[in-house]
Amino acid sequence: MTCPHKPTCELFPLISGSGALNIWQNYYCDGKFEGCKRYQSTLDGKKIPITLLPNGKTLDISALKGTGNDKK
Ligand code: SF4
Repeated sequence: MTCPHKPTCELFPLISGSGALNIWQNYYCDGKFEGCKRYQSTLDGKKIPITLLPNGKTLDISALKGTGNDKK
């Protein structure tokens, strides 16, 4: 099952475009999205920080930037 929040989820473009984070997409976004903390928080009407991972932990954005293709 695919998460219906993909079009509006701020995190989805990050995890779908990263090989290291793609595991979240495979497990949650294209699978058990009902278990995603971001999905659950949306249903509760809570504001969701972009750093909230599907398992409820916090993504270190600075670490993510360090692994990308930095263009100068
Ligand atoms: S991270 Fe969660 S809310 Fe966002 S698209 Fe994936 S399953 Fe849906």
